[in-house]
Amino acid sequence: MRSSTKLKLQQKRLLATYVKNREESKLNQRFKRAIKLQKENPLTPEQIQAVQRGYEREACPRCASYTLFRGEDYIKCTTCGSALYT
Ligand SMILES: [Zn+2]
Repeated sequence: MRSSTKLKLQQKRLLATYVKNREESKLNQRFKRAIKLQKENPLTPEQIQAVQRGYEREACPRCASYTLFRGEDYIKCTTCGSALYT
């Protein structure tokens, strides 16, 4: 009885980790696709403003703010906190 409860807990935890990882990788893919698409187009006034303020010229794929900044191995949105690790 006890061990089966423990096993269920373990399975639950594994599933939670799996879902979390899957969500993160989906977000990463969205980030990459959005950034790639935006790089192929000329700069919009919003993008120019973003660059002038020290941000990346890409909009955040999650909240659409032009507040992405690049760190050593990541890009992070200062508005919603989303991060893409490169
Ligand atoms: Zn954002």
